[in-house]
Amino acid sequence: MTQVIRSSAELRERVAAWKRSGMLVGVVPTMGALHDGHLSLVRAARAQSDRVIVTIFVNPMQFNNASDLEKYPRDEGHDLSLLEAAGVDVLFAPGVDEVYPQGFATKVSVAGISEPLEGAFRPGHFDGVATVVSKLFGMTQAGRAFFGEKDWQQLQVVRRLTTDLNIPVRVIGCPTIREEDGLAMSSRNVRLSAAERETAPALHAAMQAAAAAMREGTPVAEALDTARAAIAAAGFGTVEYLDLRRAESLAPAEDLSEPVRMLAAIWLGDVRLIDNIAV
Ligand code: AMP
Repeated sequence: MTQVIRSSAELRERVAAWKRSGMLVGVVPTMGALHDGHLSLVRAARAQSDRVIVTIFVNPMQFNNASDLEKYPRDEGHDLSLLEAAGVDVLFAPGVDEVYPQGFATKVSVAGISEPLEGAFRPGHFDGVATVVSKLFGMTQAGRAFFGEKDWQQLQVVRRLTTDLNIPVRVIGCPTIREEDGLAMSSRNVRLSAAERETAPALHAAMQAAAAAMREGTPVAEALDTARAAIAAAGFGTVEYLDLRRAESLAPAEDLSEPVRMLAAIWLGDVRLIDNIAV
């Protein structure tokens, strides 16, 4: 049975009891509308912890666009049935007032790593993420936290804040889960039309082709230009970024002499898709 908890006081009691009996608690923070990507994090959490909490909170503070927040898919009943089947112990689904009560005035802001890419195109987004993740760590008191590589920059931001604020949680990154055609699973994919859904995998295909070209010696800028042209030809809208970056610092990378990541954010109709791969 998955127990649904909405108050942080009740959650704290539940976790304290677990910890008194020596259990290791894992948390998987999500915004709901769960898919196999989320469930892969749950499986990792189950394998590496004694008790698993999944949090569902559509965090207004990390949405820089009111209509994106409004259109964000929500179906807690269905999510709960998936979590039951996956053997999750607690679904923590607090309301906005529980997370941001009257008088709330604190913001966690991670400099540097938050600034390029998503940070440049979604002002304030990572302040919202860093603030809510810090709070969820405080509320759940988890020893391990599972995040997807799908949101690569977010994973780096969370690692940074955890170190900087001495939060006693081990952050574990898990690989991106894709549809069979390569499209990275995302809660926003349900908003793609049938035609857009057919176009969508061309993003991952173009990125893979660019990565292969780079590994074979094509200059980075040239490989990225070819990918941009393929993406435009496939019918995508604006490419906000398609870049090669150092994997951890996200500083620009001009060659493959150290671990690098290719990251993209691209519009398809009115849906913004993000993806990233190792090169
Ligand atoms: P979200 O509900 O979109 O905020 O995502 C919650 C967590 O699931 C984050 O750590 C995401 O990186 C992760 N996640 C989302 N999509 C995927 C995916 N396709 N594969 C792996 N992890 C994912």
